Amino acid sequence: MNIIEMSNVTVKYNTHVAVERVNINIKEGELVCLVGENGSGKSTIIKTIVGLKIQDKGNVKVNIAPGQISYLEQFNMKDSTFPATAKEIIMTGMQTKKLKLFYNKSDYEALDEVCKIFSIKNILNKQIGELSGGQRQRVMLARAMINRPKVLILDEPCSGLDKKISGKLYETLINLNKDMGTTIVMAIHDIEELEKISKEKNIDIRVLQVAKEIKFDGKLKDWKGL
Ligand code: ADP
Ligand code: MG
Repeated sequence: MNIIEMSNVTVKYNTHVAVERVNINIKEGELVCLVGENGSGKSTIIKTIVGLKIQDKGNVKVNIAPGQISYLEQFNMKDSTFPATAKEIIMTGMQTKKLKLFYNKSDYEALDEVCKIFSIKNILNKQIGELSGGQRQRVMLARAMINRPKVLILDEPCSGLDKKISGKLYETLINLNKDMGTTIVMAIHDIEELEKISKEKNIDIRVLQVAKEIKFDGKLKDWKGL
């Protein structure tokens, strides 16, 4: 079954056409990377999937309950002086439809699990502003995952991180997709690290190359590059 279906989608900002005639079908369990130059329309496609932007033409269908999909926006850390610990930030990921005043045992078990996945147990009580870029991104990913969503939509989760740290993060995401079956759709800028890991792990990643339209949709190993 397709979890995400975009057919003939055009999205504009006022009169400026950002993406045009986009057709994308994503099935449960897939790991999909949107690649393309700056301004090619990756974020616009992602925002249209999560409903932050409405298409001007075409249809978008997301066949999943809103609580089952998590989205991490590009440049998500706008205020690094925000007074909260990593743990407090992660736990806000539990707040969905109804405000939770207290957390129960299973909520803390979920916290424990995402800490293991993203290796952040040792930084839980640090202020978010004290963390390095890579640590912060792992915290934000843990927040996105704590509700065990079926679908994770990530807009450049490794932007601003150095290669080694990006590589580690991609590896974690690949494992998440493989082990828990989480469908992952992510925009990425630099595919080199991901390519390396996917070769090591012998995993085939689906690439969608965006340049206003979809220029390539297929396996990473068949992709010729930007
Ligand atoms: P990418 O994520 O691939 O860098 P975007 O989806 O952000 O690309 O942008 C696609 C196009 O839409 C670009 O030409 C960009 O300038 C334009 N655009 C993006 N956001 C806005 C906005 N809020 N207002 C006007 N134009 C925008
Ligand atoms: Mg973008």
